[in-house]
Amino acid sequence: MIGLEIHCQLTNLQSKLFCSCKANYREFEPNTNICPVCMGLPGSLPRLNQKAVEKASMIAMALNCKTPQRLGFFRKNYFYPDLPKNFQITQLNMYGPTSIGEQGKVSIEGKEIRIRRIQLEEDPGRLIYEGASERTQITLVDYNRAGTPLVEIVTEPDFDNPRQVRIFLNILSDLLENLGVSDPSLEGAMRADANVSIEGGLRVEVKNIGSFHDLEKSIHFELTRQQSLAERGIAIAQETRHWDDKRKITISSRSKEEDEDYRYILEGDIPWVIMDSESIEKWKKNMPESISSKKERYITKHAIPAQVADVLSSDKYYSDLFEQAHTESNAKEVANMITTDLMGLVDTREKREQSRLTPKHLADLIEIINSGKITRSSAKNALQEIVKTGKSVSEIVSQTGLAKISDERELVKIISDVMAQEPTAVQQARENPQTINYLVGKVMQKTKGTADPTLTLKILKERISS
Ligand SMILES: [Zn+2]
Repeated sequence: MIGLEIHCQLTNLQSKLFCSCKANYREFEPNTNICPVCMGLPGSLPRLNQKAVEKASMIAMALNCKTPQRLGFFRKNYFYPDLPKNFQITQLNMYGPTSIGEQGKVSIEGKEIRIRRIQLEEDPGRLIYEGASERTQITLVDYNRAGTPLVEIVTEPDFDNPRQVRIFLNILSDLLENLGVSDPSLEGAMRADANVSIEGGLRVEVKNIGSFHDLEKSIHFELTRQQSLAERGIAIAQETRHWDDKRKITISSRSKEEDEDYRYILEGDIPWVIMDSESIEKWKKNMPESISSKKERYITKHAIPAQVADVLSSDKYYSDLFEQAHTESNAKEVANMITTDLMGLVDTREKREQSRLTPKHLADLIEIINSGKITRSSAKNALQEIVKTGKSVSEIVSQTGLAKISDERELVKIISDVMAQEPTAVQQARENPQTINYLVGKVMQKTKGTADPTLTLKILKERISS
């Protein structure tokens, strides 16, 4: 049995969960994005970020959770150097359901994964091991992250294998991005711990996993380790194990704390938050269209093939581009251009940030292809230029000689040249007409994709059969 605890940062918020320090701690010098509240200095009082409640509620609703009637916050007491207050403000269902959501579910490939609980809490600071070697003597602490808003999602142990875990995390990551609450591509924005147990054994928690890829590996490792212990009749201890990134194994770190070790108490400085149905209805209405609904719409309304609709809807960057660039008539072509020609040009966060492409560029490109001024393959070249420079489509076509060669006399001349250079291919094409595409390709190569493909084929066929 495999269960997950996933921590997602609400990266798109302005401020921390209980103070006005910036939520985006990444751009600061160490220990400059702090104040008496997030440092827990005596006399300071936390104030709950209402936007964080709204965004976390949206996540809970998107995961089909029940929303409580009131929210409660609790102090989870433990000592660790990254926790300046010696307690973390989090949520707990101690007096009935008071965390941001519970009893949700997500379906993956026909299998239902139940969500036990979702809670809103503050992130601790960060420890930095100087030199990052195992023998390091120095540990630094940066509190810039302390108090930033975090949503913890706890699933039931419903996963049968590491593959389902990976699919689930991909769906969750797309969902968070689509909701506009988090940017999962930011380092540390989404982190997961796994609870792994085999039949008859106790639960082992695996922590400190750097990437989704390693999470899958660590679950594999842990399942094998527990099975091998069980086969030899050795009891599996309930414990926390850390993932050793270098050796790709899990190592025992400490026995697992029980809830009572944390001495949870109600956070008296934050009053109960009443979740009135009016606000919840408003948030529900403000929620962006879900990925599955987008996909359905692309297929039924625009007749986009299911596979293309899947790629388009699950990536917010692509679906936003599509929404703004398409019209009734060009939807299929825009979808096609994004998922075939554009994809390789903007497949990373850095490339997307640097790209100068706008939705209008895509609409203009489709229009100019349809008008017959440039070929489909020239459009692909133009797209590269647009992503790099942001120049308008008409500017690029006139400056770079991408205009389609539809002049029959000009094409005949080019084709004659190609035929003279490729006598063997010409002979082959005469014997087997299917091989003529090789010659079409050569003409395209010579004209850098600007030759009118239909006309080229027509002239070639005439010349070869004569
Ligand atoms: Zn602060």
